[in-house]
Amino acid sequence: MKIPFNKPWFTGKEIQNITSAAAFGHISGNGLYTRKCHEFFENRYGFKKTFLTSSCTDAFEMATILMDLKDGDEVIMPSYTFVSTTSPFILRGAKIKFADSLNDHPNINLDHAESLININTKVLVVMHYGGVAVDMDKAMEICSNHNLILLEDAAHSIDSYYKEKPLGSFGHFATFSFHETKNISSGEGGLLVINDEKYIKRAEIVWEKGTNRSAFSRGDVDKYEWVDVGASYSPSDMIAAFLFGQLSHINKIQQTRINIWNRYYSNLLPLANRGVIKIINLPEFATNNGHVFYFQTSDKNERNGLLDFLNDNNIHAVFHYLPLHLSPYYKELHTGEELKNTELFADTLIRLPLFYELPLEVVDFISERIASYYN
Ligand SMILES: *Cc1c(COP(=O)(O)O)cnc(C)c1O
Repeated sequence: MKIPFNKPWFTGKEIQNITSAAAFGHISGNGLYTRKCHEFFENRYGFKKTFLTSSCTDAFEMATILMDLKDGDEVIMPSYTFVSTTSPFILRGAKIKFADSLNDHPNINLDHAESLININTKVLVVMHYGGVAVDMDKAMEICSNHNLILLEDAAHSIDSYYKEKPLGSFGHFATFSFHETKNISSGEGGLLVINDEKYIKRAEIVWEKGTNRSAFSRGDVDKYEWVDVGASYSPSDMIAAFLFGQLSHINKIQQTRINIWNRYYSNLLPLANRGVIKIINLPEFATNNGHVFYFQTSDKNERNGLLDFLNDNNIHAVFHYLPLHLSPYYKELHTGEELKNTELFADTLIRLPLFYELPLEVVDFISERIASYYN
């Protein structure tokens, strides 16, 4: 049997919660479990205001509406990320400027990002790759110097920290994903975090189809009406019930994933020390949340050869991301600037299986197979 790349793990609590949400009788959006999830995130991480959404992509869409972008506004973001980071901005008519990665980490090179700023730049998006923080002091300084909105794509970053402060608590906005491939999952699901007070009131309305239904639910108004633009971003309370089941085991999930990550790290360190592969150097300011274990080969041929070898050994390892600036949709619109580090990560990075139920003996087996490929 093949060792999968990912396998969702259910705590048992998810179905219990869904049953009790159904018994409670409110299964549409903004119900009991939605509120419990919001409280969880706001209390545990100090996020100012949170909104569950149907996906991280939807959380991005909500944020782009709240930013009030106009045609011609420019947004700077890494090219080495998932398409969801960018397409919601395109939908609002914004122009994307892609920044390169650092040379020793897939995260955005903030010096390069800063060099792309001009009079039309409105937003800087950073994505904490593998849950490892971007240098947020520097990102925030750039944004305050140039009066930019800061959005953290924290899709990988639940329960991870920069200088002991949770990722997702720095940007004016932050987005999380609960897609099946993420540490904490509701199949599909997302969260929009708003840390700047001035966006909150409108966010409630955009979240509920452009109506003031949230205010109505609280009893602040006596009827609810159409007051702004919006969409149906609030997920069913069944999804929230499922998610809350996962959240109630978050410490165990994170610790188990980190143990797996550490085991790969110590197993593969000898290969890295010999200079055969490159593995991550965690910056001093960042934590690791066990989201992805990756390493780099010396070139694309070697990477593809190793992926084939692992596949022949019944191990499903994968690569990503295809650089957004070279993608069929965007390549004609890109400035033409070469983004060397982004392209290097796209060509040489390998991600290994990492999921809650992956036994450490299997981690040892996978590591041994990688060593044997090089010996
Ligand atoms: C998974 C992911 C997303 C999108 O998440 P969805 O919940 O599937 O919409 C966005 N950005 C990054 C970096 C991701 O990894």
